[in-house]
Formats: sequence, structure tokens, C-alpha cells
Amino acid sequence: MTLKQRYDRIDHEVSASCEACGRSADEVTIIGVSKTVGLEAVEEAVAAGIHDFGENRPQELARKRDAFPDERWHFIGNIQSRQLSTVVGRACLIHSLCERSHAEKIDRLAAELGIVQDVLIEVNDGEENKQGVQPDELFDMLMACSKLEHVRVVGLMTMAMRGSLGDARATFSDLRILRDTMRDKLARCGVQGVDLHELSMGMSDDYLEAIPQGATMVRVGRAIFSDDYAS
Ligand SMILES: *Cc1c(COP(=O)(O)O)cnc(C)c1O
Repeated sequence: MTLKQRYDRIDHEVSASCEACGRSADEVTIIGVSKTVGLEAVEEAVAAGIHDFGENRPQELARKRDAFPDERWHFIGNIQSRQLSTVVGRACLIHSLCERSHAEKIDRLAAELGIVQDVLIEVNDGEENKQGVQPDELFDMLMACSKLEHVRVVGLMTMAMRGSLGDARATFSDLRILRDTMRDKLARCGVQGVDLHELSMGMSDDYLEAIPQGATMVRVGRAIFSDDYAS
């Protein structure tokens, strides 16, 4: 199969899944995670109709964005403070914010650029050795971010552990419930401007589990870019 054939199949499956659960297909963005491929594959992906890309290394995001400035570049990697200046302003969305100090640094960098940086808070699904804010610390993190004028939290992100699809489904469902709880709590506290509409969840192995649970963004790497990926 070509990249376009793989992408078309995923796009159809996502649309069918949306339809099956009463959602509109345009509520879900497929992000092509291009972190393991070069510029030629990105070019092929753009020709195939992909316009959102995910990268986990700041320099690589900058390089690919320079080559394809009209596409949307999402930062999905671990944040290192000293590399944030490469990411802020270049990434349309930072999916992986989980430290308050990083939020403050993003705020300063965005202020210098005169922009508001959109971010998602990465939530840990309870597994050890994984990054992300713990669910019981999320509210404080959201409150802290709501005070930063140049950071706009637009939703939450999580990664399911590899393993059973049932576990992935539970992780995704938990994130949605947590989002709804946070919305209520923020509203009760009179916090405005944090509406958390985006849920970034689902990867090559489990994106179809994420859609019925409310994903608005799925981050798909191997199933699009790897010709030996077997689903
Ligand atoms: C690599 C990566 C993906 C894509 O993973 P695949 O299994 O290749 O689809 C998605 N999200 C994050 C955060 C990643 O690092």
C-alpha cells in the first residue's frame, strides 16, 4: 500500500467510527506523526491530504515547518525547558504541557512574540514511569495556567499504555470524564476562557477506540508512515 492508500483507509475508518457514534467526521483531526520520517514522506503526506503533523523534537519541528510552512505543526514530545523557545510560536498546539514552570516559560516566550500559545495538558493515566499531570493535580495546573495571558489551554492529551484495547478505551473514557469534571469545577469557580474542547488521544494501535470516547485529535504515526505496519 502507498502512504495515500494507508491514509485514505484510516480516514474512512475514522469517518465510519464517527458516524457509528453519532459524531460528525469533521470533529476529528487526524494528525500524521512524522517524527520518524523525512521531508519527502511529509511531501507525500501533504499530497495525500494530510495537513496536521506531529513532531516530538523541537529542531525537527522547526526544520519541517520551514520546509512546509503552510501545514500545521503540533508538538507532541517531552518538553525540555531550554528548547521551548524553538517550539513556542512554531507549534500550532503543544500537546504535552505538564509542568507549571514550563507553562510560565511558554507564557514569557509567547508574550515576547506577541501571541497566545495554544496548549493541551498531558494527563498521566495512572501508570508509573510516565509523564503527565496526575488527575488529582490537574485542577491546580489549570487554575495556574488560567492566570497566564499568553497561554491558552484548549484541552487535554493522554497516551494509553500499549496493551489491551479495553485498557486503552478505559484510559480514553477516563480522560473525557476528567475533562467534564474539570469544566464543571472551573465554571463553579468562575474561571473563564478555559473551555477544554480538545481531547488528543489515540495512536496507530488504538485510535478507533478513542473516537467513541470523544477524541477530537488522533495522533497516528506508524499506521500512516510505515509500510510494514500491520494493524
Ligand atoms: C510517536 C507518538 C505517536 C504516534 O505513535 P504511533 O504508534 O506511531 O501511531 C503519538 N503520540 C505521541 C506522543 C508519540 O510520541
